[in-house]
Amino acid sequence: MPQASDTVFSKIIRKEIPAKIVYESQTVIAFHDINPQAPVHILIIPKKPLVNISAADRGDLELLGELLLVAGEVAEQEGLSKGGYRLVVNNGRDGGQEVPHLHVHLLGGRKMTWPPG
Ligand code: 5GP
Repeated sequence: MPQASDTVFSKIIRKEIPAKIVYESQTVIAFHDINPQAPVHILIIPKKPLVNISAADRGDLELLGELLLVAGEVAEQEGLSKGGYRLVVNNGRDGGQEVPHLHVHLLGGRKMTWPPG
């Protein structure tokens, strides 16, 4: 896999390409997915170029916690808290990860099915 700093998400972080940003802090940014799989589909990513969960270590403890908390805050902001929503983290080839920069998918606005594909 290429370095996370080479991806389209790093270009979004650096504002080199546009995105519909819904949240931004010094460490985390969230924006609408370009190819939504639900009425609400937002990606929450660390600004640190971590490839995925497998590449994270104990030094990333706070950052990983922050990603989930921000996902919950964005879900609230989008009006999803009451009805519910799904958070997904694809990891590596078999996990279906296409962009090698850690991201949490926030999906909502419709009833999700299980098992996932
Ligand atoms: P993955 O399959 O790696 O878990 O998810 C990558 C996600 O990034 C996909 O849902 C895809 O639609 C989204 N994506 C890929 N390129 C772009 C882009 O340039 N802008 C935005 N906003 N989303 C993108």
